Amino acid sequence: MSNTELVLGFIFKESNYYCDDCLSEKLDIKPRQQINQICNKLKSQGSINREKKDCSSCKKDKLVNIILAEGK
Ligand SMILES: [Zn+2]
Repeated sequence: MSNTELVLGFIFKESNYYCDDCLSEKLDIKPRQQINQICNKLKSQGSINREKKDCSSCKKDKLVNIILAEGK
């Protein structure tokens, strides 16, 4: 499974909002920059949204990744 699928699957399964740092830690995908690239790609594909919100894990007000229902 690719890292992109891992990220998407994780966000979908958890139904929560996670910042790049927490995704990097939870999925053990490093460096964090790779998460950033993956999430920007998923956003451009319309799979997720990225917005400023409290992260479900670290509770900080950060740019988090949110799954968009029903694909595009
Ligand atoms: Zn976080």
